[in-house]
Amino acid sequence: MNPRRTRIAAASLLVLASCLFAAAWTQAAGDSHDLPVRAHLPLVANDEPRATTPIPSPATPTPTPSPTATPTATQPPDTTLSFDASRALEIARHLSVDIGERVAGTAGGDEAVAYLQGRFAAAGFTVELMPFGFESRYALASLQAAGQQLTAAPLTGSAGSSVTAPSLFAGHGAASDYAGRDAAGRIVVVDRGVFTFAQKATNAVAAGAAALVIVNNEAGGFSGTLGRAFPIPVVAVPGSARDLLLAEAAAGLALTVSVELPAPTAVNVIARPAPGSRCDLIVGGHYDTTPGSPGGNDNASGVASVVELARVTGPRPGVCFVAFGAEESGLWGSAALADQLAAAQALPAAVINLDVTGNGDDVELVGSASLRGRALQLAAAAGIPARPATLPEGSSSDHASFIEAGIPSILLTSGDYAGIHSPNDTFDRLNPVMLDATGELALALLLDLIEAR
Ligand SMILES: [Zn+2]
Repeated sequence: MNPRRTRIAAASLLVLASCLFAAAWTQAAGDSHDLPVRAHLPLVANDEPRATTPIPSPATPTPTPSPTATPTATQPPDTTLSFDASRALEIARHLSVDIGERVAGTAGGDEAVAYLQGRFAAAGFTVELMPFGFESRYALASLQAAGQQLTAAPLTGSAGSSVTAPSLFAGHGAASDYAGRDAAGRIVVVDRGVFTFAQKATNAVAAGAAALVIVNNEAGGFSGTLGRAFPIPVVAVPGSARDLLLAEAAAGLALTVSVELPAPTAVNVIARPAPGSRCDLIVGGHYDTTPGSPGGNDNASGVASVVELARVTGPRPGVCFVAFGAEESGLWGSAALADQLAAAQALPAAVINLDVTGNGDDVELVGSASLRGRALQLAAAAGIPARPATLPEGSSSDHASFIEAGIPSILLTSGDYAGIHSPNDTFDRLNPVMLDATGELALALLLDLIEAR
């Protein structure tokens, strides 16, 4: 664990998920390893940058105009170039509908990488997949019973495999509940409570079970930990599935339990204008999601806009476009890239980050004051509703990794995080008007920065 990771890991240990989300689950007596799951928010404060690389002033140096002043020094954006929201929407639709959940290090994440790689290449860029190691907090689980796909959450410590086998109900899963019963090779269903999850799993393994399903003693779901690794998949299911599961188990019918543990590596998708070229300006957004979320707004909206911006501007010297990986597990992809560029003494002059850009009433500008001031001027000139903002306490996004490295960076976001990190974060909730406004402002800022170099 490197120092940087430690700080970020500490943030992720405390809370994860750079964007806001809250889900509350219940905690019943007796299961000491069972933790209430609360909002995941990394604690990377949006500090003002220690600007090590001063932003080059506009071509014709002028005193810094106040935010209200219409830009005089900076040339109005090249109006021949325009952000096409319908193209960005099509990319967002493919990511959030055709692919759906895109947890870093899983098959869904890999599918998104291949798709984005193809889109950047189609726009004429040289695409590099930059691998990095990370610690995922997310494992995926599913449960099939009576032909239905049931909600399930893997317990930390569960094995990562898929098992289909006849089922058996074993009360609360005490050792005595297996007396005189043949659980060998079966999927055992038990009730939550009385014993810890680890005790239930230990007894199930001792009885030869192939997998363990723990049913909540309340309607909703829960998650928790086994405290150590177990050789069988162990999942938690909502109490609302109890009757169905007990009926299947009473008849000895088959269930399928699947747990997918993310690979410990993920990738950034880096679109460079030419092989090996420097990235003096970076426009980026993360492609990964949290489990169970199709990530329409968080963050198919932002990463699709990054691809569309790449198409609009085309390959230009020193300008790179990046789809960051593993942001939801703690900004790992952007931190890895910032580390790599710092080590190569090739940090960019500025970074524009797009995250959750498909709804809201105006564009929120978060991050370095110099970039926010410039963006405000450009927004005023273009008639785009925008305002400076800060993120809710403890939350952040990929621009923070570059701010930490002393690079002026800005996040363009909607500020409206309703429904993210949930199954409700669907494509049909995207607002094309705000997607377009944010894309146009990002384009204007990018062209202004290119012009000012
Ligand atoms: Zn996000």
